[in-house]
Amino acid sequence: MTYEQLAEIIFPNIKHDIKYYEEKYPLRETKEGAIVTRYAPSPTGFVHIGALLASFTGYLFAKQSNGIFYLRIEDTDTKRTVENGVNKIIKDLKDFNITFNEGMINETEEQGIYGPYIQSKRKEIYQTFIKFLVATGKAYPCFLSEEELNDIRNRQEKHKERIGCYGKYAKYRDLDPEQAAQKIKNGEKYIIRLKSPGSFYKKIKCKDLVRGELEFPENDLDIPIMKKDGLPTYHFAHLVDDHLMRTTHVIRADEWVSSLPIHLQLFQVFGFKAPKYAHISPLLKNDNNQVRKLSKRKDPECAVSYYHEMGIPNEAVKLYLATIINSNFEEWYLQNKDKSIEDFEFSFKKVSKSGALFDLDKLGNISKTYFSRLSKDEIYDQTAKYLKEFDLEFFTIFTKDPDYSKAILNIEREQKKPRKDIAKYSDIKKLFYFMYDDLFVCNWENKNININLLEDYIQNCYSEDDDKDTWYNKISGFALEHGYPSVKEYKTNPENYKGHVGNVCEMLRYVITTLTQSPDLYEIMHILGKERIKGRLEEYKKIVSNI
Ligand code: GLU
Repeated sequence: MTYEQLAEIIFPNIKHDIKYYEEKYPLRETKEGAIVTRYAPSPTGFVHIGALLASFTGYLFAKQSNGIFYLRIEDTDTKRTVENGVNKIIKDLKDFNITFNEGMINETEEQGIYGPYIQSKRKEIYQTFIKFLVATGKAYPCFLSEEELNDIRNRQEKHKERIGCYGKYAKYRDLDPEQAAQKIKNGEKYIIRLKSPGSFYKKIKCKDLVRGELEFPENDLDIPIMKKDGLPTYHFAHLVDDHLMRTTHVIRADEWVSSLPIHLQLFQVFGFKAPKYAHISPLLKNDNNQVRKLSKRKDPECAVSYYHEMGIPNEAVKLYLATIINSNFEEWYLQNKDKSIEDFEFSFKKVSKSGALFDLDKLGNISKTYFSRLSKDEIYDQTAKYLKEFDLEFFTIFTKDPDYSKAILNIEREQKKPRKDIAKYSDIKKLFYFMYDDLFVCNWENKNININLLEDYIQNCYSEDDDKDTWYNKISGFALEHGYPSVKEYKTNPENYKGHVGNVCEMLRYVITTLTQSPDLYEIMHILGKERIKGRLEEYKKIVSNI
């Protein structure tokens, strides 16, 4: 019996050949240099921040080269599949504006002509490729039972040998097709293994776009390519899909770098051109001075939902990821106020080879810069949306008078160097609660405050219609009249004065806000208005005289 006949016995229903599919999915008519890449998650419904980084990297490189970014769902490992897993992934990525040119658009539908884009619907295609290997003697049915496999593994562990099916352990590698066919007819269970042409003692060299030149021993393991259920293994599906979907670049987490010898060998066995690979290093965390990988189990910041709940804008997360992708991004971003991430030219050469430390403080800083560039209306809208989901009480207060809240958000915004104190939506309540009477708490302490002086100032000098310069000139004049000159004058002769104008402002700030530090006092007073300031002064008097 020939290998071809054996292949026919194993795959009687496979009628097409590889050429048929290659014609069905022709080479793409993209421009020279266009990157065709994919995000290929298992439908676990969970997007890890590292996966967001890998997918964002793919998205950016495809976009900036006018290429194609597609979503392929890798569901051959049915144990990992969760209900609605595809939708959840798509939604999470869409929230970050990571969208696809092709691929799955929900659990069942897709767009693009290189599909199906979900592996469970590609069984026939995979089997066509596997049939070819069996028919040419490059793959074979393997009848090793679970027990035998465990036995082999134990022996290999005991003798400190490499684990896997190779050499003498590849018991069915050279089985005569006739005997193999007989076993199949007898109903023996089997998987299909690659008849690896590699030798462990030879090296292969390859270039990773991020990690540079790599050298590995050739793969000599007869790896499984088809499981008992007729579905391919991940390695094999990767070959078929990336070949037929005409992928030019595989951008993925570096946990797959050790699979390169297998992947390259598979392309070589078929005589296909392999895509270029870019392996993205893992995100690391400094955990009590020990650097380790971010862990889904230990670190809440691993899930992208964390940022949503904390109120960190998705755009800020992306800005931070962009600095991880290319460290020179941050400087560029700081210098280019009106540009967006997609205007930056990312390069594979600048992607970090070792893992990047994922630093929430750094994320906070870049988020502050992001907020400082938003208009009051943008912050208002985004914050209201966040509060509606996570802080209904403040939502009601915040949205009662939108113009009032917007005026607060505009404090020190329309100036050359706007304040950088908001990192997340939830900061707004902490920063400005005292501007809302419903949240203001009169928790003054008895400090040395000349309340009569302040009352005199508000009553007789302050006008909420003054512009900032007039306000400052007036308060300075008032202070001087009452024994508080300019700081300079005060410092020359401190014994002649009660304090300086700055002290008057400090007292005023404290009574109005209960804080010793706050954003611009003029703006705060202007927004609160004279009557409410008077009210707070009166309240202060009442409370502090009772302390
Ligand atoms: N399905 C694989 C994963 O979930 C993707 C590997 C690849 O991109 O080749 O990690």
